[in-house]
Amino acid sequence: MDGKAYQQNLMNLCASGNHDVTKKYGVCGIICAILLFPCGLICLFSDVEKRCVRCGAKV
Ligand SMILES: [Zn+2]
Repeated sequence: MDGKAYQQNLMNLCASGNHDVTKKYGVCGIICAILLFPCGLICLFSDVEKRCVRCGAKV
C-alpha cells in the first residue's frame, strides 16, 4: 500500500464515522484544575474538546 492509498484508507474511516478521537483540554480548565484542586477537576473535564486527529472534525 503506498502513501496515497494509506491516506485514502484513513479518510474512508473518517467518512464512515470512525474517527480517531483525541481529547484536548482547554488552558482555562487546566489552570482551574491546578488552582482549585480537587474541585477544579470539574472545570478541567467540562473544558474538554474532542477532535479527530485525522480530519480535525469536532466529535
Ligand atoms: Zn476524522
